[in-house]
Amino acid sequence: MEKQSEMQAGEKAHPAERLDSEGSGKCQGDDSRGSGKQRDDAVWRQLAQAALDARKMAYVPYSRYAVGAALLTEQGGIYQGGNIENASYGATNCAERTAIFKAVSEGERRFSAIAIAGGMEGAEPVDYAYPCGICRQVMQEFAGEDFVVIVVKSDSDYRVHGLRELLPYGFGGDSIR
Ligand SMILES: [Zn+2]
Repeated sequence: MEKQSEMQAGEKAHPAERLDSEGSGKCQGDDSRGSGKQRDDAVWRQLAQAALDARKMAYVPYSRYAVGAALLTEQGGIYQGGNIENASYGATNCAERTAIFKAVSEGERRFSAIAIAGGMEGAEPVDYAYPCGICRQVMQEFAGEDFVVIVVKSDSDYRVHGLRELLPYGFGGDSIR
């Protein structure tokens, strides 16, 4: 059951998803966006730190795998969330959805980025924590056109992915209108 608990609560990266297709905080070879990229880097770094801080609020008595998320609104506000486990494992909520639901319940609707950091409680992340499928779907519901997902090891070591890359051909509101 330990394994199952970890799978449900955690956001562990799938090895196949670790392609560094959009660069990372460590390897910044793309300067095609010029000052815009530099500005983004400063924002991403701040968001990465907010995700690391949010891990401290995670409630993970079963898996001990603490995830923090920091969601950036299109207006520049930040909402944080941690994963919240439950003795009935299926009732567990991921950090990303905690942050998104907090924001939406306070009237926010459009977001531009989310940073995610995960690892064993009390220790620094040793790997990038990618969002689960359910969280990718929830992101799509409220994502702006250029929404990015930032997976974080530290505030200087992170990867930036477009949501379209993590959820290609996704199902959204446009599909049923
Ligand atoms: Zn999730």
